[in-house]
Amino acid sequence: MMRPRWALPGLVIALLAGALLLLRGLDRAPVRIVAATDHSTFSAERAFGHLRDLIGENVAHPPGSAAQRRIEARILGKLATSGYSPEVQAGLQCSPLAAGCTQVRNIVAVRKGREGGPAVMLTAHYDSVPGSAAAADDGAGVAAMLDIADLLATRAPLRHDVVLLFADGEESGLRGAMFFAQRHPLMRRVGLVVNLEARGVSGPSAMFETGAGNEALIRLFGEVVARPAANSLLYEVYRRMPNDTDFSVYRRDGQRGFNFAFTRGASLYHSSRDDLAHLDLHSLQHQGDNALAVLLGSAEAPFASLRADRDASYVDIATRGLLAWPATWNAAAAAILFLLTLVIVVRRLRVGWRPAGRAWLSILAVVLLLPLAGWLLSWPLGHWPDANPLDHPHPWPGRIALIAAALLVVLACARWLGREAGVAAVLGATWILVAILTLAIAVVVPGAAWALLLPLLVFALVGLRWPRAAAALAFAVAAWSSLYVFLLADVVLGFKLSQLKMLPLLVLALPLLPLAVACVERGSSRRLFTGLGVIVLAASLAGWWVPAHTFDRPRGVNLVHVQEEGAAPLWYLEGYEEPGRAVLDAMQFPATSRTLRRYGVQPREVHAKPAPPLAAPPPALSIDDEAVRDGRRIVRATLRSQRDAFTLLLALPEGSPVEGVRVEGQPVIEAAAPGPRVVGLHGLGYAPVRIELTARAGLPLEIVVLDIAPLVKSGESARLMQQRPAEAAPLQNGDQSIALRRVRL
Ligand SMILES: [Zn+2]
Repeated sequence: MMRPRWALPGLVIALLAGALLLLRGLDRAPVRIVAATDHSTFSAERAFGHLRDLIGENVAHPPGSAAQRRIEARILGKLATSGYSPEVQAGLQCSPLAAGCTQVRNIVAVRKGREGGPAVMLTAHYDSVPGSAAAADDGAGVAAMLDIADLLATRAPLRHDVVLLFADGEESGLRGAMFFAQRHPLMRRVGLVVNLEARGVSGPSAMFETGAGNEALIRLFGEVVARPAANSLLYEVYRRMPNDTDFSVYRRDGQRGFNFAFTRGASLYHSSRDDLAHLDLHSLQHQGDNALAVLLGSAEAPFASLRADRDASYVDIATRGLLAWPATWNAAAAAILFLLTLVIVVRRLRVGWRPAGRAWLSILAVVLLLPLAGWLLSWPLGHWPDANPLDHPHPWPGRIALIAAALLVVLACARWLGREAGVAAVLGATWILVAILTLAIAVVVPGAAWALLLPLLVFALVGLRWPRAAAALAFAVAAWSSLYVFLLADVVLGFKLSQLKMLPLLVLALPLLPLAVACVERGSSRRLFTGLGVIVLAASLAGWWVPAHTFDRPRGVNLVHVQEEGAAPLWYLEGYEEPGRAVLDAMQFPATSRTLRRYGVQPREVHAKPAPPLAAPPPALSIDDEAVRDGRRIVRATLRSQRDAFTLLLALPEGSPVEGVRVEGQPVIEAAAPGPRVVGLHGLGYAPVRIELTARAGLPLEIVVLDIAPLVKSGESARLMQQRPAEAAPLQNGDQSIALRRVRL
């Protein structure tokens, strides 16, 4: 039978396009927005109304700020309207983790269940970073909770109590959650935690954390959630990252539950443009749908049934359903599939030694060339003309360039090495390698195994009978799982690291190699090769040409005024990355950077210039008493900000003899350390705070006290803010004034 020359390349392109279509739920939450008038379920429209009521002024509301107290009153008012009797749990919570303290005010309400006993807790944090109105992080979570609270109040009681915790102080070190977990009597009854978060402003609400032993929880999740976005690889990645949410506090206490977040638009995370205008209502709807579903599901379930010792492996199928199985099956399944693959290769493919050797050579070339191609493309896509760390405003040219480059690498290896090996040899060798990789990953990172296990399963089962058809079918599954991980990786990898972005494409490239050899054998590879080359070139050019920063996906640039007692005041620019030429020129900062000590102690390269003095008195420090005991000098002092600062800091320079710091009796530093250290005190306002320093006696003791307040917009500061280009915006602490004083004790 004659086969048309272009059938195979056409099939491959169609499968890739189909996989991308199935995966569009990764960029945008796959839900329809429920109207405010529909009281049968969660409505993003209603929740957005709550959010507008809470943060309509679009101002930041860190702990202790007047804006935060206003929002607290509004949440209390809304809960009371829904029939709750909310309470405020207030106090100072300190921790050595991210050394410091936060004056927190948690809001707690309870919806009584039919039975007593364990309770389910739904929580989100209502504080913001000092430089953001935080519509998404975590206003969306708070707003979703308010609508859910109202729905629960109007329905018949559930089996278990539902605790609603609007936590404070998350951004300054998870301290609202710590305060609740350590000191609220209700915590003893909490048996399951549902946390709502955001690390961006759009995208699906993904369930990315459960706590250990999640088999039963994942089963429940798969049953009750209509559009699940979750996979066990996400959790494996998250676990290895330094990021934390309030859920970490409960997880460390042995709690389990569900942690949800949406993460697209990550450049708006903690940005001054995380505002009402940028929040995607689809994400809010998905977040609320998910939270309500797991809440209703778990609040009716017998709690004992949700406990499990085993973990599950799981992955959503185009957010239409969840595939889940015990994680312990992975290694056994991989071993069986490896044996089946061997049988297919030996019995059905019958490859000689020589072609086999050539086949392995072609595979080796794919494995080596793929990251190399990514590294080369990282220059036009990620470095020139302007580095973009994450969340490209126009990701598709870069994505297409990388995918096409992967196809090009495979085709090149098929033409130059694979052709001589022949389809059967390459087919056998690739799937043996896939089977080996699957087995290795199943043992080392079981949660990630699905990405290889599912295509291998298809190959091994179909291949026993029809090895060549199996190659095409298994490629279809591999294309889906590979592109799933590739698109998901946008959340943690920018185009600057395109060499790493290429690694998930290996899952697609290996199964593609035998198909590419078949194309070469049919003589359809030449034009394909040219075509792919043109696509890579054109997409790279487009990726190079489109701006890396826009108004809606800005570069973070803070204007900082620093005034040290006895020194000339300075302006400097601060952000995750270099501010870039356009910003420096527009704001008239020097092109060369200089070393400055951040908070008076941490050396950092910044672009700085002289500034006029501001009315910014440094914090007042008074020594209360001091003593020397057992070779240790103990100094007790009172520290107080003299202005409306959001953070008061105590900084210890490199090599400081300080071995311990206590704040109001709570330890924040418990040992000596060689590098500079900073203790952050948040939400205190003008209130004095007692600190106790313990240091080795007989050594000079210098500390730096400082505070950070929002930069007031007037005179030169107003002009500089005005000059900042629209594609840049403040983030984290925002535009700020630092008042600093060195003290020799
Ligand atoms: Zn948050």
